Amino acid sequence: MFWHLDASFIALAIILVISADLIIHKAFSSPHRQDKIFAATALSFLTINLIDILSSAVMMMPNVNWWVYQLSLTLYFITALIPCLMWLIYTHSFSKTDFFRKSDLYLYFVIAMPYLVYVLATMTNPWSSFVFHLSPKLEYTRNIGYVWGSLLYFFYMFLTTVSVLWNRRRLKRAKAALLMLFPVFTAVAFYCQVYVFPSYLLVCPAYACILLTSHLLLQNTKRKTDHLTGLPNRNALINALNGGENLSRSLIMLSVNDFSFVNERYGNVLGDNLLKEVAEELKTFSADESVYRSGGDEFILMFKDSSPAHTEELLAMIKKRFESPWNISDAKLTLVLSIGVVSLPMPEDSRIDPLSALELAVREGKQKNSTSVTYYDAALSGRYNRQRQVLAAVRDGIAQKRFKTYFQPIYNVDSGRFDRAEALCRLRDPKLSWISPDEFIPIAEESEYINDITDIVLDNSCRMARELYDQGAKTVIHVNLSAENFLQPDFTKRILTTIDKYSIPPSLITLEITEHLLLLRDKSAEAVLRELSEKGVTFAIDDYGTGYSNLTYLANIPAAIVKLDKSILKISNDGGNFILSLMEMMDKIKKTVIAEGVETEDQETLAVKAGCKHIQGYFHAVPMEESAFESFMINHNLNLWCENINQREQKGNIEASLAD
Ligand code: C2E
Ligand code: CA
Ligand code: CA
Repeated sequence: MFWHLDASFIALAIILVISADLIIHKAFSSPHRQDKIFAATALSFLTINLIDILSSAVMMMPNVNWWVYQLSLTLYFITALIPCLMWLIYTHSFSKTDFFRKSDLYLYFVIAMPYLVYVLATMTNPWSSFVFHLSPKLEYTRNIGYVWGSLLYFFYMFLTTVSVLWNRRRLKRAKAALLMLFPVFTAVAFYCQVYVFPSYLLVCPAYACILLTSHLLLQNTKRKTDHLTGLPNRNALINALNGGENLSRSLIMLSVNDFSFVNERYGNVLGDNLLKEVAEELKTFSADESVYRSGGDEFILMFKDSSPAHTEELLAMIKKRFESPWNISDAKLTLVLSIGVVSLPMPEDSRIDPLSALELAVREGKQKNSTSVTYYDAALSGRYNRQRQVLAAVRDGIAQKRFKTYFQPIYNVDSGRFDRAEALCRLRDPKLSWISPDEFIPIAEESEYINDITDIVLDNSCRMARELYDQGAKTVIHVNLSAENFLQPDFTKRILTTIDKYSIPPSLITLEITEHLLLLRDKSAEAVLRELSEKGVTFAIDDYGTGYSNLTYLANIPAAIVKLDKSILKISNDGGNFILSLMEMMDKIKKTVIAEGVETEDQETLAVKAGCKHIQGYFHAVPMEESAFESFMINHNLNLWCENINQREQKGNIEASLAD
């Protein structure tokens, strides 16, 4: 019998390369059983390919010994079924996250039972001729065992097909198609080998094609391993979680606060080494946990024992380790963590996947300065849902023009006039009713919508400044800015264009920014400030006293006005000493001061006594909608005007009577 072995050798080369890749990427010691099973499947393909080549070579040898011929063929028939059995298990591994449990092992055992009987029967072939009969002249004839083996082969392929169809929803189309490659390719190869190209060995080359495709598209370890730490990455975690939503698991995500500082201060190489060290340490906590690196400074531990006691124990261990410093270069560095905890299965009304829930919990903790643990629970889930609703309200509010601008007059103590006003944004949603800007502004700031809001408020403010100017009630309007506004490359231009649109002097607009914004945007914000200041726009530092309050810094920024936060008045029950010394300092650095949140006469007296020339607060006027504000300002100016006339008349009368 003559066999063409070319295709078999090419197949051997392909399988060898893939096996080497699997060994290099430590697939056999991967924390994922699926990786191990794939590696074992590759190994079974390699074995059967070698035995195929060996037995075919033996068959082609002249004067070969009967026993050698017999044993090589028997070995072939014993091992020929292993690849399809392995592929069946590999396919099953996609059906659920925690496969290979005891119940699965029983199932595999039952399924493999007919094969084990077949193996035992085939081992007796030299005497029983169960699979084939070999005459002393080496003539070969098939027997009943051959039919049994073939039927079993097709039975396992049938089970693979059933498993794929059964889990088709979870698998999605691409994965299902890839898993079906095995039954389809081998059936075609089998048919061609028997009926079309009888002297070619085609089944093993088909295995090689299947292995190559699935290695690249289904299994590629590089896509699942983090290069730096060697830990499984985010893809691997998604894979592990896929379809396992109903399992009982706990997930802990650790994120190092301000890790960029480590990279900036010590360089990326040392930063990388530190991450590797953290990864190694996390691995030592317990053998049962799987550790993933899900991003830059983020690690995730997943564990089966999701009891609160075990989670607490693990968290205590982590916190304890992170209390002691890490050695980096010559320095010792203490890392602060934001820890998020999620228990699976998630609450039924969760509209979020486990990974996003972890990120949400971690983000909550980032606002704290020390290591914190945040559980994804009903409260956090509620906050998250509310945030989503508010974001939708902001989006719709912009589209449906629901945003209104209110104005709060600011009182000038010296002139007795309201010569300034702050523009404050308002949103009333049909479903959520009134939403406070304290709630929707931070949410809008996390999206692009804040720029639309600023545009709306600025436009309304410029229009209002124009109308008041035209009616003889000249008023400077204050507009609040957010840090995110400064990220727009054409921000300065947009402001100047709106001011131009209403042909108002730029000095009628004051832009309010916080110290925090300046620190955040640094030089870029300062450049915008200088450019707009040169055009005549003024700036005010908002909420002064809640931030960093560096006086030298404050003195040098081009903002003429400082607004004292309402908390300053509240803490000034020391007889006013605090606010007095603050006002002296402001005087030295030549800032005009506006006291915010003045609600009572006492507060007003305190602020005025300390030297505040501008007062904003409910005591004088509340924020008003456009038409109410306009009437308020015009009436107020009219009254002032009348008062002045009266005063002048009275003065004239007194002077006249004196002259008489
Ligand atoms: P803010 O800039 O400090 O604005 C002053 C806030 O104090 C306003 O709250 C105002 O209604 C309130 N207020 C005025 N007088 C008194 C008083 O006597 N007592 C008390 N307790 N509060 C007083 P509002 O309108 O709820 O705005 C809250 C924050 O939302 C603003 O604080 C500002 O940071 C932000 N915001 C409002 N509108 C805009 C906007 O158009 N753009 C941006 N970026 N932020 C805005
Ligand atoms: Ca403000
Ligand atoms: Ca303020």
